[in-house]
Amino acid sequence: FTGKSGTELLTEKLKKIKVKDFQSIPVVVSENVSVYDAICTMFLEDVGTLFVVNEKSHLVGVLSRKDLLRASMGKQDLSEIPVHIIMTRMPNITICEKEDLLLEAAQKLIEKQIDGLPVVHKVEDGWEVVGRLTKTNVTKVLVNIGRDGLI
Ligand code: ADP
Repeated sequence: FTGKSGTELLTEKLKKIKVKDFQSIPVVVSENVSVYDAICTMFLEDVGTLFVVNEKSHLVGVLSRKDLLRASMGKQDLSEIPVHIIMTRMPNITICEKEDLLLEAAQKLIEKQIDGLPVVHKVEDGWEVVGRLTKTNVTKVLVNIGRDGLI
């Protein structure tokens, strides 16, 4: 018998959860698609964040709802603007890996005040996008604890 309190046991469990246990499938677009097409993809795929990749399928940017709204405020033709003009680009992207602790990834979401992180896998000359970790994924941990007392 370890004599650990309920809180200690819960904390121990929380510290074992990895990004891969709660991540979702990423939705990616090419850097050459138009802002118009990215808006369509965001609606059709029902996500709040799109990841932008180059011809090698390496991560080059992120598009949020507000990025697309901002681009829509001007008078430009949205089908003429490629997303690489308006995206947040590497190296300014906050990333995580599937073996990272979920708590650390959640901390990044709060610190950077963003809705999601790309889950990436290092390759020779860049990062491949293998998943998506959002505030919703983190909220699911809370719901699981409340419902089952376990994760
Ligand atoms: P929204 O703008 O729809 O509220 P976010 O809060 O996620 O969504 O995004 C705010 C800004 O941060 C946007 O300009 C977006 O491109 C950028 N951003 C979103 N996710 C990331 C990330 N993982 N790394 C760096 N920047 C990001």
